[in-house]
Amino acid sequence: MSRLMVSISGLRGEVGSTLTPEIIVRYTQAFAKFVKDGKVVLGRDSRVSGPFIADLVRGTLVASGCQVIDIDIVPTPTVQLEIEHHQAAGGIAITASHNPIQWNGLKFMGSDGRFLPPAQAQQVYQMADRNQSSLQGWENLGSVIFDDQAIERHIEKVLNISFLDVEAIRKRKFKVAVDTVNGAGGHIIPQLLEALGCEVIAINQEPNGRFAHTPEPLPENLIQLSEAVRQHGADVGFAVDPDVDRCAIVDNEGQPIGEEYTLAIATKLVFSKQLGRMVVNMSTSRASEDIARYYNCMFVRSKVGEINVAEKMKEIDAIIGGEGNGGVILPEVHLGRDAPVAVALTLQALLEHGGTMKELKASLPQYEMVKKKVSIEGMDPDQILQQLADKYKDQQINTLDGLKIDFEDSWVHLRKSNTEPIVRVIAEAPTLEQAEELADRFMKEISEK
Ligand code: MG
Repeated sequence: MSRLMVSISGLRGEVGSTLTPEIIVRYTQAFAKFVKDGKVVLGRDSRVSGPFIADLVRGTLVASGCQVIDIDIVPTPTVQLEIEHHQAAGGIAITASHNPIQWNGLKFMGSDGRFLPPAQAQQVYQMADRNQSSLQGWENLGSVIFDDQAIERHIEKVLNISFLDVEAIRKRKFKVAVDTVNGAGGHIIPQLLEALGCEVIAINQEPNGRFAHTPEPLPENLIQLSEAVRQHGADVGFAVDPDVDRCAIVDNEGQPIGEEYTLAIATKLVFSKQLGRMVVNMSTSRASEDIARYYNCMFVRSKVGEINVAEKMKEIDAIIGGEGNGGVILPEVHLGRDAPVAVALTLQALLEHGGTMKELKASLPQYEMVKKKVSIEGMDPDQILQQLADKYKDQQINTLDGLKIDFEDSWVHLRKSNTEPIVRVIAEAPTLEQAEELADRFMKEISEK
């Protein structure tokens, strides 16, 4: 049986085993106490288990005296935006992000519409562990309001991004294929594309939670989208994950360009119009870094995890940031990964480039990344990483999150897993062979320890 995963990105478990009604109620009560019975925005992705979990969460919040704004099936970033819109004390998104159908979970957000910073998330988890009651008497029960305008407001906000020339995009009449994997993006992404004057070829757009393929938007899962692009001669294809915070791109020949390039395209567009600061996580491609350096912009790397990137962005007042897994953060909209934002920025970039998506990708710094893992059964991961840090101390090393070693035109990032006896090895280099070779070299070094 899988474990209940409790991390800075929230709570995740398998329905019917680890994610039980009891667990859901317990964590929701803890969150109700955390927001002091305030107003809470509640949204969910399209998973089959979503309605029963929403019933439990909604009921528990009302029983705890909270006023619930229920916005039903929406992207996670829409929940974040609606917290600001309704000036709520917090929000809960019922989602297991890119995990397969049997998973679901809760993501908790604060009054600023961002995920809870690690210290606050810890507070909620500790309250859940203590299993303290948040329940109120009949005279202090909360209430529920249903709001079906959240997606329209999100689209409006994206169309108002200052870096977009919406009229020019409309005139270009892009032909766009989109795969929302029967997740929560089934309405917002096609509607946004139509608002941008695109001819839309939508596949797997029914938000019924029956994922048409493995839902993580990795190249190997984009076969249907690639076919749709080729069959219809589309200019570009977009795939989003079930809760619509990650966006992957397929070029005009049906070739996935790699999730890392979603952020690189957005970065180049933003810095070509406004100079400012940027934050990405430790494992994000150097392509974005090269672009930031080209524009002489400050570039900072944070720990892995959306909240860590967002916190750093707020601290240094960054104008763009994100994670290489297709997660673009544009603070002008809000401090969270947002696939609709990524889609709109990509179309603007494609318009300004003037060529095809394949040519646009080729115009960016070229890197290849490989992600592997090595078993360290019976070994101490911290000790292994410390030994390697000592060995490579003459190189440029960073120990903020695991161990990252930067070389001239390549890097390797080693991170221990908190749930399995493995070390993740992420390597990037100008060619796939070099990246493979670098990763293999470090896997060997680790397993020989
Ligand atoms: Mg996600």
